[in-house]
Amino acid sequence: MFYFDYNATAPVMREAREAWLEATEKIHGNPSSPHAFGQAANKALTEAREKLAHYLGCHPSDIIWTSGATEANNMAMHHFAQTLPADAEVWISAIEHPCVHDSTKHYFGKRAKFIPVTRDGVVDLEWFTVEIADKRPGVVAVMCANNETGVIQPWREILAICQAYEVPFFTDAVQWLGKMPAKGLGDCDFVTGAAHKFGGPRGVGFLKAPHKKKINSLLFGGKQERGQRAGTENLPIIISMIAALDVREKQLAENHHQTRAEWKEKFEKLLLRHVHGTTIVGLNSPRLWNTTSALMPEGGQQRWVTRLDKAGFAVSTGSACTTGKEEPSHVLSAMGYKAGQVTQVLRFSSGWETTAADWEALEKCVVKVYSEIHGK
Ligand code: PLP
Repeated sequence: MFYFDYNATAPVMREAREAWLEATEKIHGNPSSPHAFGQAANKALTEAREKLAHYLGCHPSDIIWTSGATEANNMAMHHFAQTLPADAEVWISAIEHPCVHDSTKHYFGKRAKFIPVTRDGVVDLEWFTVEIADKRPGVVAVMCANNETGVIQPWREILAICQAYEVPFFTDAVQWLGKMPAKGLGDCDFVTGAAHKFGGPRGVGFLKAPHKKKINSLLFGGKQERGQRAGTENLPIIISMIAALDVREKQLAENHHQTRAEWKEKFEKLLLRHVHGTTIVGLNSPRLWNTTSALMPEGGQQRWVTRLDKAGFAVSTGSACTTGKEEPSHVLSAMGYKAGQVTQVLRFSSGWETTAADWEALEKCVVKVYSEIHGK
């Protein structure tokens, strides 16, 4: 079986599994307990916090552990809703993940404003520069890289503009972390991430938020995380997440992702050559080295997925959340694709374990399915 759905979730790497097992076996205490067992757990938790802060480039107290990115993104929006002035607008990109989009709509209703994207799937910087000069939102949220298209967003530029106007900037770094270096993310006021996208375990993530301002907790009943997130921290999976990030940061520092980008680019070139009528979404934009989003020729999106699946290739129709539900992608709609085109999209997303031969096998299989569907 060939797995090409890493943007939905990635297999847990050996180092992360081992770190989880070791922590489970050896660290029994609750980090909040006063005895030696508790102190040992608290020490391990502090070390994990310091490591993540080191990678992001922020203060360790900025880190709040969560159950994943959905919780972290909701927590951020909940906090803004509690602390921003009653008339403040929240600007988010039109291509945010549903957990940012829906929580913003929930808390801010009509005060949620969408930053448009270009046909290539990048936030419209011109629009943003003009609008922000005129009106100050309470916060701006733009993800680092899109989960459906892999298109990298100009988060550093947007951060600089926000800083110039003293507007807090929030970025969902879920698809960035472990694929691109974390360095610099700590300069953003709010950052979220999730371990299972880069080879860590499911059910753990974080919110990075300025430690000088206390975050309004979504949960009540405990003083953990400096009173910002009630509930006993799941230490083994936190340690496991950091073990996975250690591996990814090392691979990134050694530039192992550059060759992988070339394998994907070759796949795209062959796809365009051999599968007539294919469009690569965001072709002209900088994109993550692992993601290809393609509008396939007529033939039914689900039919493509089923046939590829039968042949041993797991691909997806879009985001993990819309897969199987046949909901048209709001990301492609925001990019200006028509309703009929939006339902033709397939997402191929690889991981660090994917080889050049895997990409070649995928290309051959897509061509075979194409000829079966179109009788050529
Ligand atoms: N943000 C982005 C960009 C994502 O891709 C995802 C998951 O696909 C999430 C947030 C939500 O992550 P989780 O489901 O791990 O909470």
